[in-house]
Amino acid sequence: MNIVDIIERKKCGEKLTKEEINYFIQGYSKGELPDYQISSLLMAIWCKGMDKKETAELTLSMVKSGETIDLSKIKGIKVDKHSSGGVADTVSLPLVALVAANEVPVAKMSGRGLGHTGGTIDKLESIPGFKVEIPTDQFINIVNVVGGAIIAQSKNLVIADKKMYALRDVTGTIDSIPLIASSIMSKKIASGADAIVLDVKTGDGAFMKDVENAKNLAKTMVEIGDSVGKDTIAYITDMNQPLGDAIGNSIEVEEAVNVLKGKGGKRLVEVIKALGGEMLYLGGKAKNGEEGKKKIEKSIYDGSGLKKFREIIKAQGGIPDFTEDFSILPQAKFKIPVYSREEGYISHIETEEVGKLAAFLGAGRIRKGDKINLAVGITFPKKVGDFVSKGEAIATILSDSKEKGETAAKELLKLIAFSKNMVKHLPLIYYKVSKEGIEKLFNE
Ligand code: URA
Ligand code: CA
Repeated sequence: MNIVDIIERKKCGEKLTKEEINYFIQGYSKGELPDYQISSLLMAIWCKGMDKKETAELTLSMVKSGETIDLSKIKGIKVDKHSSGGVADTVSLPLVALVAANEVPVAKMSGRGLGHTGGTIDKLESIPGFKVEIPTDQFINIVNVVGGAIIAQSKNLVIADKKMYALRDVTGTIDSIPLIASSIMSKKIASGADAIVLDVKTGDGAFMKDVENAKNLAKTMVEIGDSVGKDTIAYITDMNQPLGDAIGNSIEVEEAVNVLKGKGGKRLVEVIKALGGEMLYLGGKAKNGEEGKKKIEKSIYDGSGLKKFREIIKAQGGIPDFTEDFSILPQAKFKIPVYSREEGYISHIETEEVGKLAAFLGAGRIRKGDKINLAVGITFPKKVGDFVSKGEAIATILSDSKEKGETAAKELLKLIAFSKNMVKHLPLIYYKVSKEGIEKLFNE
């Protein structure tokens, strides 16, 4: 087999065989094929796409490129969740606790933030003492005893994705449906869950800017899950504005606790309930997603979710007291209010840019490996359709540098558009995609 022939064939829009896919994935993972040839092949895939069969073969080959986690020692149906990445996407932290409180075990491996999107592992690191790197046997033990745990993805999981993602990031080949689908699903399959719930974001702050592409990505991932016997349900949710009110790390942990205390923002809570409901359904603890949703809601209001969250924090070495005293979490030196210079209804938020602005303050990474500042970020509770008065404080910049904070406050105002006329609130959940088909959940 020859890599140049494989590139040529994909360039001409031909379908690659299982053997060809294995050849380049295993070869690249072992360092036997150079970046320049794989870059070229990735661009050919970006241009010509891959069919269902090729995408499934690609995913399985990627899984085989690294270690796989065996969760069979955990009792019950393990359900995992994954978001395709967004801004103020504080879903996973409360969700894991709420699902575990309903006796569906959650053994979650999460990632760090990159670019304009945040990552659960960074957020968790703002909790004093909390360990994100735990040996697999201990991780499994915590899930068996407490019901849930969240750790950083093992360094040896899906080696092909580590290498290809870094290459895609610098060669303009991130936004390809087969490449994103195989990247996400290979990690989910390798980390051992029995069933998967996906939150596919769409809009300005997502990788998939339009709903149709997001729907195709979701459909592709559900099909991959189905082909390997892992029940997969995907929701297409809105990312045309920050989902929650906080964009950062310790401030998102605070917001997660507020959700568990019944004080969370409406949109964030709605997504948590929808995804959690499906996780309970797939985990065999609810007749359907609707019943699961009610159970999640109950675990918010009766405090069992918060109790479970504190148990998980403690089991992973953290000090749970911060849920009652947020001053224990890292605090920024400067809190700079942002005052609106206009009056009217918010009509648009440049969400990706808001995410990048938080990264500029130090809350995120521009490059892989950058050090982040856990205390800084932006709180911005306003949503599209909200009315704002001139001079009203609409956001707060949290910064350790006064100068940077003041720059960010000015920049944030440029990312918000206003209208004199009333503006409708944005839809939140667009579609549910499962092996039963695609269900529309919004009105235009
Ligand atoms: N998230 C991933 O894990 N992979 C992608 O390719 C895009 C988003
Ligand atoms: Ca944009």
